[in-house]
Amino acid sequence: MGVTDLGDALLALLAPLAPGDTLLGATLRGASTELGLRLTFEDAGGLVHVEVFPDEPGTRHAARSARLLFAYRALGTERARGEALCRAVAERARVNEDSVLDSLGTGDRAARVREVQITRALEPAGTAERPYLTLSPYVGCLIGCRFCYAQERVGVARRLRGLAPAPWGSYVDARVNVAAVLARELAEVPPHPIKLCPIVSDPYHAIEARLRLTRACLEVLRDAAPRDVYVLTRARLVERDADVLAAMSRARVGFSLPTIDDAVRARFEPRAASIAERLDVLRALRARGVATFAVVQPVLPGDLDALADALAEVAGSVSLDVLRGEGSARADFDAHPEARDEAWQRDRVLALRAALDARGVPRWEGELPADAPR
Ligand code: SF4
Repeated sequence: MGVTDLGDALLALLAPLAPGDTLLGATLRGASTELGLRLTFEDAGGLVHVEVFPDEPGTRHAARSARLLFAYRALGTERARGEALCRAVAERARVNEDSVLDSLGTGDRAARVREVQITRALEPAGTAERPYLTLSPYVGCLIGCRFCYAQERVGVARRLRGLAPAPWGSYVDARVNVAAVLARELAEVPPHPIKLCPIVSDPYHAIEARLRLTRACLEVLRDAAPRDVYVLTRARLVERDADVLAAMSRARVGFSLPTIDDAVRARFEPRAASIAERLDVLRALRARGVATFAVVQPVLPGDLDALADALAEVAGSVSLDVLRGEGSARADFDAHPEARDEAWQRDRVLALRAALDARGVPRWEGELPADAPR
C-alpha cells in the first residue's frame, strides 16, 4: 500500500531517522502539513522548520535534492543552524525520495475529491505560552475564496503528490478516518484547546453535508474529557451541529464577519454564507447556549456602526486585524481599492475597536478567543 498520509511521507524522507532522533545535534520533533509541508527540529531551545517543496521554477530554497527543494525558518536559534539542518535534510532525502514520491503519486491524478486515510489528526500550533492543536477533517476547500491564504500551501501538497493542477475551490481531500484517529489521539495529547478552523479548509464547506466528518469529530470531542474547542467557519452548515455543540460545555463557534455589506461579502466570498445567514446562525447558536465569537480580518467596506451593532448582538467576543496581503484576490480589491490601503485598514480597525468598546463587546488578539460569556 502506498503512503497516503503526507506527514508520514515527510518523515519517510528522513528514514531511518524518526521523531526523537537527532540530526546535527537537533532533535526531530515531527512533521506538519497545515502551515506548509514541514519537518520540525528542536535546536538549542529554539525551533527549526525545514519546509519541503516540489522542484518548481521560482521556488525560493536553501538546499535541494534530486527532486525536491528545501527552505528553512529558524526561530530562537541561529540562522546558520537552520541552514545546516536544511542541507542535512536535503542530503537525507536524496536516499529516500524516489520511493516516497513514487508512493505518493499513485491513484487517479485527475481526482478532485479524494477520500484519504491519515495517521495523525491533531497538529500542534500556537506559542509556548498559549499552545493549541489544530484539527482539519478536510484539506482543500470547496468555498474557494480568491483571497484564501491556504491555497498556496495546499497547492504545494497537491503538486507534491503528482496530482493534476486544479483551480482553488475545485478539489478536496476528505480525511475519512479523522474521527477515529482523533479519538485515539485525545488520550495521548495534552489538554490544549482544539481549533477547527480554515487553516487548510473550512470545516463546513459543502461536502461536509454528505460526509459529516466534522460532525463525527465534534461527537468524539463531546464524548471525551471536556476541553476548549473552537470552530471557525464561513458556512451556514454549522447550524446543523447545534445539538452537538450545545452539549459541549467548552465549545465556541465563530464566523468571519469582515463587513455588514452583503454585496461586498459576495464579491470577496461568493460561495460562502451571506452576512444575514451568518448573523442568523450565531443568534441561533447563542439561543441554544453555545458561546460565539467573530473574526473581522481584514476589515472590508461597509457601515461600521451597523457592523458593531450586529457583532454586539451575536458575538460573545471579536477579533480585529488589518489586511495581511491580498493573496490572489487582486480583482476583488480592484473593485474596492480603498480596502488595500494600509492607513484605511488601520483607521477602520481603530474605529471599529472604539465602536465595539462603546458597546461593551470583549475583544481579543491572536489565534484564540478570550473567555467569552455565554
Ligand atoms: S472558506 Fe476559508 S478555507 Fe475556504 S476558501 Fe474561503 S478562506 Fe479559504
